[in-house]
Amino acid sequence: QPSSLSGLPAGVGEALEAEGVAELYPPQQAAVEAGVVDGDSLVAAVPTASGKTLIAELAMLSAIERGGTALYIVPLRALASEKKTEFERWEDHGITIGVSTGNYESDGEWLATRDIIVATSEKVDSLIRNGAPWIDDLTCVVSDEVHLVDDSHRGPTLEVTLAKLRKVNSGLQTVALSATVGNAGVIADWLNAELVESDWRPIDLRTGVHFGNAIDFDDGSKREVPVDRGEDQTARLVADALDTEEDGQGGSSLVFVNSRRNAESSARKLTDVTAPRLTGPERDDLRELAEEIRGVSDTDTSEDLADAVEQGSAFHHAGLASEHRSLVEDAFRARLIKCVSATPTLAAGVNTPARRVIVRDWRRYDGEFGGMKPLDVLEIHQMCGRAGRPGLDPYGEAVLLANDADTKEELFERYLWADAEPVRSKLAAEPALRTHVLATVASGFASTRDGLLSFLDNTLYATQTDDEGRLAAVTDTVLDYLAANDFVERERDAGAESLAATGIGHTVSRLYLDPMSAAEMIDGLRTVATGDAPSDVVDAGTGTSADTGEFIMTAENTDDDEPGFGTYVRADAENGDASGEAIDGEANADAEDGDETAAASSEVTPLGIYHLVSRTPDMYELYLKSGDRETYTELCYEREKEFLGDIPSEYEDVRFEDWLASLKTARLLEDWATEVDEDRMAERYGVGPGDIRGKVDTAEWLLRAAETLARDVEGVDGDTVVAVREARKRIEYGVREELLDLAGVRNVGRKRARRLFEAGVKTRADLREADKGTVLGALRGRERTAERILENAGREDPSMDDVRPDKSASAAAT
Ligand code: ADP
Repeated sequence: QPSSLSGLPAGVGEALEAEGVAELYPPQQAAVEAGVVDGDSLVAAVPTASGKTLIAELAMLSAIERGGTALYIVPLRALASEKKTEFERWEDHGITIGVSTGNYESDGEWLATRDIIVATSEKVDSLIRNGAPWIDDLTCVVSDEVHLVDDSHRGPTLEVTLAKLRKVNSGLQTVALSATVGNAGVIADWLNAELVESDWRPIDLRTGVHFGNAIDFDDGSKREVPVDRGEDQTARLVADALDTEEDGQGGSSLVFVNSRRNAESSARKLTDVTAPRLTGPERDDLRELAEEIRGVSDTDTSEDLADAVEQGSAFHHAGLASEHRSLVEDAFRARLIKCVSATPTLAAGVNTPARRVIVRDWRRYDGEFGGMKPLDVLEIHQMCGRAGRPGLDPYGEAVLLANDADTKEELFERYLWADAEPVRSKLAAEPALRTHVLATVASGFASTRDGLLSFLDNTLYATQTDDEGRLAAVTDTVLDYLAANDFVERERDAGAESLAATGIGHTVSRLYLDPMSAAEMIDGLRTVATGDAPSDVVDAGTGTSADTGEFIMTAENTDDDEPGFGTYVRADAENGDASGEAIDGEANADAEDGDETAAASSEVTPLGIYHLVSRTPDMYELYLKSGDRETYTELCYEREKEFLGDIPSEYEDVRFEDWLASLKTARLLEDWATEVDEDRMAERYGVGPGDIRGKVDTAEWLLRAAETLARDVEGVDGDTVVAVREARKRIEYGVREELLDLAGVRNVGRKRARRLFEAGVKTRADLREADKGTVLGALRGRERTAERILENAGREDPSMDDVRPDKSASAAAT
């Protein structure tokens, strides 16, 4: 019984019992026996929904009771807030919780006061790079979904981050939670941890394949689900679950498909199944929910989602806005939405169980593979694991679909009878090591080549590999690259090779940039200062750098509204609140008495800067679709003068295609910064609103980094710094230049700023003086919004009582 556990804060055991944990599940019991509440390290490899989170909570709470602090590492941002909400119930027992997502470069000092900190692995990595002091005091770290070390993009970060945490805290308790994978023992070896491995599940999971008129389950049983001619297999299975009442309720379904578009069309189709089965009150609640969904944003996706939800069916994918995602998740958990069609991202984390899981697609298009590729066994198992809600359903069912007998056999062999693949480290690859080697050297974890290699010996890669030379070989290649770009300095004496990060190397590490992105940006920014005449480099360089030096001081002390302005200047930026306009003035003066350098830099346009950050490896590219090549080639020649650096020749096929794909991203950003409507953008680029936000966020971060680099490296003039900052601000707010001031007022945003501007309210200062009826008219009569905006602009009396909206203002706005 939880209340008989010792070592937990007072009342925790009782609270667990009160929330229905009468006794520990067997894997939880095994974890306690393995010492998880006594500070011992543990790897728990157990199925989805078998209570892994409670194992972690027991570890963290007992660590806190002993006077320590805990860090909970999650793989996705969306999970960070979910976990935080979950842990917040311990606040009644005096435990404080903090979540760290946000900007990469902030050092999160306030987190030092928290007992439990939740963060993504990237965020933890960044906090270590920026020297967050509390990192050294941690006593317990939990790594959720640790099997994702296998992921080639994000796995290495988790691996290196755990190695660093364990290096600075020698007695650190490490609790790693994993799905059931083929080689959990290797993860336990790597982390020096006890292993709890189990197939136990709190409720039965039956897995099977539907073919013809029945589901064949792995336990040999069969369920008749006849499908009429021309009837859709998925729809039939969703209907069957809904029509089978347990505890007086039909069962909900989760349908996994292989693309966003398929998720949307599947949800639409399944409304035919869900709509006729809704009760009157459910229909009312869903109508309300649909309104809420429409209120999040007025985009096509929002509208499509609301239309489906109104009829009891929803879609869920990474292109959705996060508010949309959580509305769908909550309503599905509350059994209001009957069926969710999702892409596999949903399977990886968020807790949304259903009575029946239907895996409609088990192959997905893979560009590198060059066709449809079968999903990993682990992925399919995780999807299946979402079936069955403890306490709600008597059992869970996961069903794969086949339309011929051979496929049925194949699905059993490939997935249902198979073990998940073993986890394999992806660390020994250049892109991964490029960034982690620099960070490891810059944050003082290694100061020689040998020290670096011995640090890397603490990774999963080293535990797993038979080829010991490989890691060293890739490390050397990467060191050559870092040295050639002046990020690292090497010195050989007496056989030993010492390593140190240069000033710019430190900056790059703290900015959380891939060194290759930094090199690309630095090169591009320098082409502006030096133009095409290399003989000017020396002169212009010295001249400008003196000017730039002064300029930096001014910028640091006067920047007013940007907390994340840059790592070095943060403290100053927060104190200073003098006008930012002075900066521009001064920089322009610089430009005027400059020579060719200044003339060259006058050509720097936002598009050029957006292209520069879009072609770095830190920006995930948009695909070039058929027809795009022509469109963007044309655009490339039309606006040739604006790009920083050389344009690859059309004959260099691959490089040129890449360059054009970056141009597509750059134009998306330019559209955003010129107030193009989000729906139009979604259509133009074939992406969802969530993707647009994602690109914009990434661009904002990269532009901030570019601004810092432009200021810190030699050979970039002050005018360029200003141009980068302007381009960045326009991305931040999504507006043309004249709206920057207005859009900076909280709650205004790009659309309202434009409407206010059209009605003659053009600045923050105008908001303090303007006729209230005009403001209210421009804001389409929304009184509370208007009051909040006026208050945020610093107006003395923001009240809208008895104010009538000026109709002509709202007319001017449309
Ligand atoms: P996992 O993290 O393994 O996917 P969760 O921790 O989300 O699974 O657990 C699934 C559900 O089981 C949660 O709702 C949790 O409250 C519940 N649960 C966990 N342990 C117990 C227990 N010992 N008794 C009853 N319910 C439990």
